[in-house]
Amino acid sequence: MKIDFTKNGDGLVPAIIQDARTKNILMLGYMNQEAVEITQKTQKVTFFSRSKQRLWTKGEKSGNFLHLVDIKNDCDNDSLLITVRPEGPTCHTGTDTCWGEVNSQEFGFLSTLESIIASRKENSENEKSYVASLFRKGINKIAQKVGEEAVETVIEAKDNDDSLFLNESADLLFHYLILLKAKGFSLEDVVKVLESRH
Ligand code: AMP
Ligand code: ZN
Ligand code: ZN
Ligand code: ZN
Repeated sequence: MKIDFTKNGDGLVPAIIQDARTKNILMLGYMNQEAVEITQKTQKVTFFSRSKQRLWTKGEKSGNFLHLVDIKNDCDNDSLLITVRPEGPTCHTGTDTCWGEVNSQEFGFLSTLESIIASRKENSENEKSYVASLFRKGINKIAQKVGEEAVETVIEAKDNDDSLFLNESADLLFHYLILLKAKGFSLEDVVKVLESRH
């Protein structure tokens, strides 16, 4: 890998640190040639700290190491994208990312739906909400709904009406997300199990 360390005049290139699993950006650091070499050799991300003016292996005091997965050069070789498996929170303030975010996996609109379902569970006395009414009825009733939607999905799978099949699939997924939440779990918990089998 040919990295251009000459651009900033200080022999450093910025390194964007991304969680290989969740794809979230965890922090930004700077590296010189030696930091890149040590990172590749030890498989633990090592920066050149501008405040300490020395090589700094992230986690050297806290134990919150960033285990190397991959290093990528950008289009003109003057910045790095480093994917990692973080051990513990990345920021020294104790948060998962240096921007104060939680390092959870995002599933686009399904995550939006999960947040709405979570807020309905919090306010399950809400009379107007169908989801809140399911939470009031309890886990057995929710599980039964999942069973019904699963059967309806199976029935439509045997038919030729794609629109009905997709609609029942959506009903199934929606009620399944509610069941996960009722049991205290999230989609990420299930995806982690799938990933661990991979
Ligand atoms: P650590 O490398 O995790 O053992 O942390 C040692 C010191 O490095 C901390 O006390 C901070 O001064 C600094 N530090 C740790 N993590 C970060 C970070 N994500 N961004 C900037 N400085 C950090
Ligand atoms: Zn560039
Ligand atoms: Zn930080
Ligand atoms: Zn249905």
